[in-house]
Amino acid sequence: MAGDQGYSESVDDIARHQLNFLETLQEDEPEHVITLDTLETQRYCEQKAVFERQAGPDEKRPDRIIRAQEQHGKLVAEMAGTEEEYHLTDVWDDIIAGDVSLLYPPLFFKLIGVIIYGRPTYLRFIDSQPTQLTLVRGVTKKRYLDELFPSERFLLWCYCTILDRIGFSVSDLSARYLKYPQDEFNVVEVSRAQMLVAVEDGDDIAIQLDDDSTVHPNIRRHPIEYKRDSETGKQLREYVAFWRDGGEPTGAGHWKQCAGCRFNPECDLALPRESKGAERNYDWINCTA
Ligand code: SF4
Repeated sequence: MAGDQGYSESVDDIARHQLNFLETLQEDEPEHVITLDTLETQRYCEQKAVFERQAGPDEKRPDRIIRAQEQHGKLVAEMAGTEEEYHLTDVWDDIIAGDVSLLYPPLFFKLIGVIIYGRPTYLRFIDSQPTQLTLVRGVTKKRYLDELFPSERFLLWCYCTILDRIGFSVSDLSARYLKYPQDEFNVVEVSRAQMLVAVEDGDDIAIQLDDDSTVHPNIRRHPIEYKRDSETGKQLREYVAFWRDGGEPTGAGHWKQCAGCRFNPECDLALPRESKGAERNYDWINCTA
């Protein structure tokens, strides 16, 4: 882990910078802001990332994406546990005070002039420092449960590096994906899985289980150990530079990626079904955050 290399800043400074970013977002040009999800898509097809970014909020999204967004909303509502409005300034006040545990604040970081934005599913703080980062993903095929795809590993690393670079100590940070089958989504089960991860990391949480309850039979955990990595950092910068400087996007590496892509009809780089295609980056996924 990287905290001993020390980008650490005071939590007050971090909070002030993060809240300033939020204000900047409302004024800045959209081309100077990019989400981590788009960068993950870019990991296996730049052309698709371009389409995804252009698609407006009214664009018809695939059912699996809509389902995932609904499931994510239920998870957040379950974990928030309050009916009062909880603004971002309140979130940061609580982080500074050190009296919070599980949160999901948006995170911002500026890289080569572009603001990168991401919102982890769960972020646990102890004594004002992040200790657990969890991304949750519903998969549409059970065989995807047991794999952590390179694009997912990349995204998880990006979240960790943002926490590192905005000035937190990450010496005690653990990070993982929790993957569940979308068809068997159970908000209690996924929420419990996250709490059990917290218990294993030392949190004192009492979880009530029914006598014959299984804990989380459908959920797989995929931890990574974060460390600073110049190669992955270079890749991240190159992806961001693509958005900043423009350029001709590259397409997918395998026709199967194109066969399941909603932009196929309008894409001039779509690979035909019969094509063998160069099989670079065959880490595409049919699952959703
Ligand atoms: S059709 Fe293929 S090349 Fe075109 S955006 Fe979709 S995945 Fe990328």
